[in-house]
Amino acid sequence: MMSFLPRRPFRLTIVHPCVGRRPGEKRYVRTWQMEPLPAAMLAALAPADIEVRFFDDRLEPIAYDQPTDLVAMSVETYTARRAYQIASEFRRRGAPVVMGGFHATLCPGEVAEYCESLVIGEAETLFAEVIDDYRHGRPQPVYRATSRPPLTATPDRSIFRGKKYLPIRLVEFARGCRFHCDFCAIQTFFQATHSHRSVESVIGELRQVSRAKQMVFFIDDNLTSGMDEAKELMRALIPLKLRWVSQMAINGAFDDEALDLMRRSGCVGTLIGFESLDPPTLHQMNKQFNLMRGGAREAVANMRRFGLSVYGTFIFGYDHDSPDTVRAAVEFAHDEGLFIAAFNHITPFPGTPLYQRLESQGRLLYDAWWNDPRYRYNMIPFRPSTMSPEELTSLCIDARRRFYSWSSIARRGVHAVNRRDAFVARNYWAINAMHRWDISGRNGLPLGDANWRGELLRVGGSAVAQELVKR
Ligand code: SF4
Repeated sequence: MMSFLPRRPFRLTIVHPCVGRRPGEKRYVRTWQMEPLPAAMLAALAPADIEVRFFDDRLEPIAYDQPTDLVAMSVETYTARRAYQIASEFRRRGAPVVMGGFHATLCPGEVAEYCESLVIGEAETLFAEVIDDYRHGRPQPVYRATSRPPLTATPDRSIFRGKKYLPIRLVEFARGCRFHCDFCAIQTFFQATHSHRSVESVIGELRQVSRAKQMVFFIDDNLTSGMDEAKELMRALIPLKLRWVSQMAINGAFDDEALDLMRRSGCVGTLIGFESLDPPTLHQMNKQFNLMRGGAREAVANMRRFGLSVYGTFIFGYDHDSPDTVRAAVEFAHDEGLFIAAFNHITPFPGTPLYQRLESQGRLLYDAWWNDPRYRYNMIPFRPSTMSPEELTSLCIDARRRFYSWSSIARRGVHAVNRRDAFVARNYWAINAMHRWDISGRNGLPLGDANWRGELLRVGGSAVAQELVKR
């Protein structure tokens, strides 16, 4: 039988969209320029016999006119609008686009309007099929993961060659989290489940990609969601003599064996989502587990006991929040000598219980804030119940100003845990200075490129996709 398949290799273009760009600005937010691991995962999942090109929209112009057989983008809620602009450019030139990632699963009906194919759920068992279908001229509008796939692929970082990222190596061990915090898109996407790679494959990857003095960031949503597996990983990390950071829930801070293993395996510190110190608010968030064993203060004390720093995150805008709750959080973060801290308003991500509650109460200020040209980064997209959106914005900015004042940086820098060796002390000052600069530097950033002059192209026949995403 004659084959009509082209003799040249199939050409796949992977694009990592930026959040947005201000009018007339080309420079992008420096602190957001970490390696985009989802793009490297897509490259790893693609068949070996195809040509892969990669453009990082944060760092370089995209060569829309280079011929390609398929464009693939992993889309987050904050990058959705920019992804639709990029898709429109490619589709205007006749190149089909496939979109996946968090936002494609949280908002499939919307995303389906801007691409030829949609991947719902994790791409591991689907992406090779997507390429194969396009290669053979039988693309499907929707590819859907029906269960959690095994995590066996190792990211293909060759696509990062020649691009300059922050000097921190991103590595994934596990995905998902078993908790049900009501604001969290992770629990919605993974339906409060957790899965992990084998320890051997993570160690093999680290042996290949980590360099002396380079920090490793385990990007797991919650490293200690699977405590036994996390401990197994840490034991295996000890001989590698790395320095690493990660994110975990508060329960990790009460497990002395885990803390000891963290210290011995080179952990410098972890992010812990404290979110609030107010019990009724933690209950409303469905995060009452943060009150366990004395709560945040005891958790930080334990971490300190093992020489581990804490990056504490706080969010405001719940129904019991007031200027006093914000003030209490800043004082806590300052007094406890947190390495760094984030003070942000809550963001209702589509599909989360928080979003549904605000929507049912008629408190959302936009139909879809992430795709609304009036919306800007750090604007409050809902009506808080105890203050105006503007008051909430200024409380968050004020909290950051106080925490990143030079006097607070100096006071927190005195804590033994933040200067436990020259490396930690140097990073403490550098990272705090960076956050100080960033206090309101990102405010007002448009979602999407404000300099883009095209028209968003919607897919003809998207009714088919709309039907499919509903199933
Ligand atoms: S513990 Fe963290 S990752 Fe898990 S559901 Fe809560 S906020 Fe999300």
